[in-house]
Amino acid sequence: MPYTGGAHFLVDETVTITGARVALNGIEAPRMDLSIQRGSILPFETRRDDRVQLDLGGHILLPGLINSHDHLEFNLFPRQSQGIHANYIEWAASIFHPDRTPLKEHLRVPKAVRLVWGGLKNLLSGVTTVAHHNPYDAKVFDAGFPVRVVRRFGWAHSLHFSPDIARLFKRTPRQWPFLVHAAEGTDARARAEVAGLAEAGVLSNRTVLIHGVGIDPAALDVLRRHRTPLIWCPSSNIFTLGRTVDHNVLRSDLDVSLGTDSALTGEGDLIDELRVARANSRIAPEELFRMVTVSAAKTLRLGRGEGAIQENGVADLVAVADRGVDPAEALRELRPELVVIGGKIKLISQRLLRLLPRMCRSGLQSISLTGRGDYMVDARIARLHAVTAQILGAKFFLAGREVSS
Ligand SMILES: [Zn+2]
Repeated sequence: MPYTGGAHFLVDETVTITGARVALNGIEAPRMDLSIQRGSILPFETRRDDRVQLDLGGHILLPGLINSHDHLEFNLFPRQSQGIHANYIEWAASIFHPDRTPLKEHLRVPKAVRLVWGGLKNLLSGVTTVAHHNPYDAKVFDAGFPVRVVRRFGWAHSLHFSPDIARLFKRTPRQWPFLVHAAEGTDARARAEVAGLAEAGVLSNRTVLIHGVGIDPAALDVLRRHRTPLIWCPSSNIFTLGRTVDHNVLRSDLDVSLGTDSALTGEGDLIDELRVARANSRIAPEELFRMVTVSAAKTLRLGRGEGAIQENGVADLVAVADRGVDPAEALRELRPELVVIGGKIKLISQRLLRLLPRMCRSGLQSISLTGRGDYMVDARIARLHAVTAQILGAKFFLAGREVSS
């Protein structure tokens, strides 16, 4: 029997997942049992007389992925750029017409609804934690949101659009990351931003630069001195600026993690971003794996074991079909079959759902995304779909993929 348990599957019970290979990093995935209790992973050698077992033979369990940069409320929008721009200031000026189609219609969709769609984009690509670059909306993010949203962070938009950046940095608690778009461009202005941030006194090892396309050798030296990490969003960069971060920066000793950015500029979800990253760099698969797991957790200062399958860490897991490859290779064309966050099923494929008894399906609603598949997710899809379709019409897109419920 593949599964025996109650309706509170993976929440109130101690559950042991059996039969799967378990990714301990990008290259090691031994076959072992994994027990989960109250949302956390129990010590690996724990032997329990479990009442609940889930047989995931034929699957590999990966740590839930971390998307280090998104603007969750902009993921129903079509991509916006009039050609290639020299920097983000030019791009913003060219696309910011909230009174014109299509921005006008999209902005009529309630923001809370758009935020949930952004969470769903992430969930369907195996993301369990996302860094949302805008104010933390506790009302939306705390109550059954599709994925975890990083809560403890300071931020500024950018040197140009945040004249109070020094104050914003100073008021951010010292143990929190401070996130800022920087060097998002290919011209002299973008190249000067790292020096500008240093001059403003906001560079440190907890300052996190997003984009960094304009980082030249001199700026790289400054960032290495401060041990400042970088978030890399290659598809967004290529779309708006025509190129992405220099290979020497990606291969330096800076911590680098990967982000999708929003659908306004990004190609799609984190699966797409990994593909674009692979195609536009010579980064090894293990390094890409780290960029969406442990490096991201370190950069975002996540403290509960996010980004790894480890003893006493949070039970944030993604199961994919086992093709007999390393965990790092399993990210290639990743298709989640099951996503668990804090021990709770948030997504399950229609294929895997058939293995579960009917009573375990309560609260799950169906969603299909072109090119991604048919899933059941822990979200009020029917209601979200109705509200959204009323404004955008029955045919609408989530990060470029048509949605049906
Ligand atoms: Zn951004």
